[in-house]
Amino acid sequence: MNTLLIATRNQKKQKELEELLAGFDWRVVTLREYSDCPETVEDADTFIGNAVKKAMDASRHTGLLTLADDSGLEVDALDGRPGVYSARYARGEGSTDEENLRKVLEEMESVPESDRGAHFVCAAALAMGEEVVFTTQQRVSGVLLHKPVGKGGFGYDPIFYYPPFGRTFAEIPSEKKHVVSHRGQALQEVKSFLETFQPGG
Ligand code: IMP
Repeated sequence: MNTLLIATRNQKKQKELEELLAGFDWRVVTLREYSDCPETVEDADTFIGNAVKKAMDASRHTGLLTLADDSGLEVDALDGRPGVYSARYARGEGSTDEENLRKVLEEMESVPESDRGAHFVCAAALAMGEEVVFTTQQRVSGVLLHKPVGKGGFGYDPIFYYPPFGRTFAEIPSEKKHVVSHRGQALQEVKSFLETFQPGG
């Protein structure tokens, strides 16, 4: 059986990615099994740039075909912020999801309903050693609420209202989110690619 390394140590992300790869005919391992793999500095200014960097670093270190993703929230009225800074928006490294969400809500306080569009974006990259074999970027669009609603999900989910469901991403079961989400769509593309990819050839 082929092995796919997922370049993450984040347990929530690992859980989502494993759910998305469920039933997939590959052995999936994560960086938690390669604790000596150096941490990647995510300093690219694009989602694809960071995903490629993470995938290549881990693939070089382990010799395995490696999948990495980078994601975030782009808000129209904030010129695309927080973007690649989504995880560290409030006060740099160590910011909590709650702090980041509060900062976005503060910045959006006086923005009218008609201009509250936002998009979750997910870039995924597959690398084998020095070679990037596949990249994709997908997004899902919604509207930012004025306060959090719902207890599920993570990050900005409680303020991300998704009109087709009439709910925020924090109010819906994860299986339902995966069908439409940025990460769900990106992983679908990755799976389709892997169905025909031969790691050796
Ligand atoms: P990264 O992909 O680990 O760099 O994380 C990006 C950040 O974007 C996360 O910490 C969240 O704040 C946010 N984010 C990415 N995807 C989602 C999502 O599906 N729901 C809510 N927030 C998300």
